Amino acid sequence: TDLSLIRNFSIIAHIDHGKSTLADRLIQATGGLTDREMSEQVLDNMDIERERGITIKAQTVRLNYTAKDGKTYELNLMDTPGHVDFAYEVSRSLAACEGALLVVDAAQGVEAQTLANVYQSIEHDHEIVPVINKIDLPAAEPEKVKAEIEDIIGLDASNAVLTSAKSGIGIADVLEAVVQRIPPPKGDAKAPLKAMLVDSWYDPYLGVVILVRVLDGVIKKGLQVKFMQGGTEHLVDRVGCFTPKRTDLADIGPGEIGFITAQIKEVEQARVGDTITTVKNGATQALPGYKEVQPVVFCGLFPVDAADFEKLRESIAKLRLNDASFSYEMESSAALGFGFRCGFLGLLHLEIIQERLSREYDLDLITTAPSVVYRIQLSASKTDDAREIYLHNPADYPDPNRIDTIEEPWIKAVIYTPDEYLGSILKLCQDRRGIQTNLTYVGGRAQVTYELPLNEVVFDFYDRLKSISRGYASFDYEQIGLREGDLVKMNILVNNEPVDALSMIVHRGVAEDRGRGMCERLKDLIPRHLFKIPIQAAIGGKVIARETIAALRKDVTAKCYGGDITRKKKLLEKQKKGKARMREYGNVSIPQEAFIAALRMG
Ligand code: GDP
Ligand code: MG
Repeated sequence: TDLSLIRNFSIIAHIDHGKSTLADRLIQATGGLTDREMSEQVLDNMDIERERGITIKAQTVRLNYTAKDGKTYELNLMDTPGHVDFAYEVSRSLAACEGALLVVDAAQGVEAQTLANVYQSIEHDHEIVPVINKIDLPAAEPEKVKAEIEDIIGLDASNAVLTSAKSGIGIADVLEAVVQRIPPPKGDAKAPLKAMLVDSWYDPYLGVVILVRVLDGVIKKGLQVKFMQGGTEHLVDRVGCFTPKRTDLADIGPGEIGFITAQIKEVEQARVGDTITTVKNGATQALPGYKEVQPVVFCGLFPVDAADFEKLRESIAKLRLNDASFSYEMESSAALGFGFRCGFLGLLHLEIIQERLSREYDLDLITTAPSVVYRIQLSASKTDDAREIYLHNPADYPDPNRIDTIEEPWIKAVIYTPDEYLGSILKLCQDRRGIQTNLTYVGGRAQVTYELPLNEVVFDFYDRLKSISRGYASFDYEQIGLREGDLVKMNILVNNEPVDALSMIVHRGVAEDRGRGMCERLKDLIPRHLFKIPIQAAIGGKVIARETIAALRKDVTAKCYGGDITRKKKLLEKQKKGKARMREYGNVSIPQEAFIAALRMG
């Protein structure tokens, strides 16, 4: 294809501002699908994505558009994942484009994720076309939003396209703007093949499907290719694109985006960001920017019913087929039995996997408190040299006497909020050891920047933020590296025995608070027994918080339920049922629900 007739672009937006709806409209307007084939949102292809309005796996569609100049253009529209947990995937998708549509809700204005995404887009030297969407809403204020785009982002918004993706207004203008304002790609068809691996996923019929952006050369069926970073070689057996229907092509040339398959069985072999070239006479230098993504948040996943362990193992393995960025290994806990220690790119990623396991695989799960990854310098012991370890499970916490330093990951968080909630938000950040680095106002809203330890954010920061601000505050973050901290392992003891599933690594300064909260919650959650039960939070041998569950008097049940036979029967039945879901701990039966509830931070 003539390079001057190709346009590659993505759509960037804050969640819910209308990215998917606009994409669907563009597909519809260019005839990629008949009305009947248009399911409600074509690009969000997983149920959870649809329900939550987020896109997990990037999907790319090719549209043929005949512009007002009479020429027919090939438009490649990339749907990028919208969340910071998938930052690296987003960056590769953006690297495959020359421009972006910046969609901003005409009533909501610029939000935290709008900013995070647009800055990335600017870094990739994109031509950015502002699109102000939802102009049909009574609360729409396009002029105000234009001013925000100019003030906050520094982009000229005078020729922003006004749309209502919902009612189909302005869609033709968007297509014209893409053709006229976004530059065509560059590339050399005669140079050695150089293609970027933008995304990969597992398809039950095709095996691993790889989305590529060709920079130089041509990729076609029968070609023997090499993944430069992965070091593997494969025979290309299919080349095509999505319109959004899967369509076979003869080849993918320079500047174009499409997919290939090459009899690859596992997504792990097709890592995002890798460079694909030919085995013979290939490129000698890989594309810049390759990075192996590492999980940053870990937690244990345990079946509520121990009999479900095999099912959990199979389900996790299946999910993993499609997502090389999450990791798992078997773990056993005295409190929770057999399960898996899993690693995720971030909190949302964790939630998505957890939700898919319970929904798609019908599994009842307990999740232990999420942990970040700590770097620990250990001094030498009698039997062991000094060394550095990475810790993500409190159960593996080393002998404290050997710990020289512990470092924890920090993030930079940008929060956008209506003024009235600012006070409570500042307090929340402060309580979480945050360091405020910036505070500005734009049109009645505050933008506040904090540096925060990730370990304070993984618990329930996002939920708290949303509830404090009644859903109005938006939040985005990026990692800024490791910093030393005064971190300790806190154990929770029930009847003097530590409960492994509840131990956690905390900053010494907040340990007492956390410990007290946990003890208080457990006091309410653990049923009374015939003896007194001490509940303690301890660091090493030192108790920092304590509650006691009073003993149950022996005659209580008898008295309460005396005479009434059916009631007594019911009670016994209930107890029997309850038993299956109880865990014995230091002679104390703890209901499964107590673990789940206790792990929710108060
Ligand atoms: P995304 O998260 O950016 O992909 O947003 P969606 O495309 O899923 O849209 C979020 C919500 O906004 C959905 O309920 C859409 O129906 C709605 N929406 C999208 N565009 C418009 C629009 O132009 N006007 C109105 N009123 N609602 C819209
Ligand atoms: Mg969407």
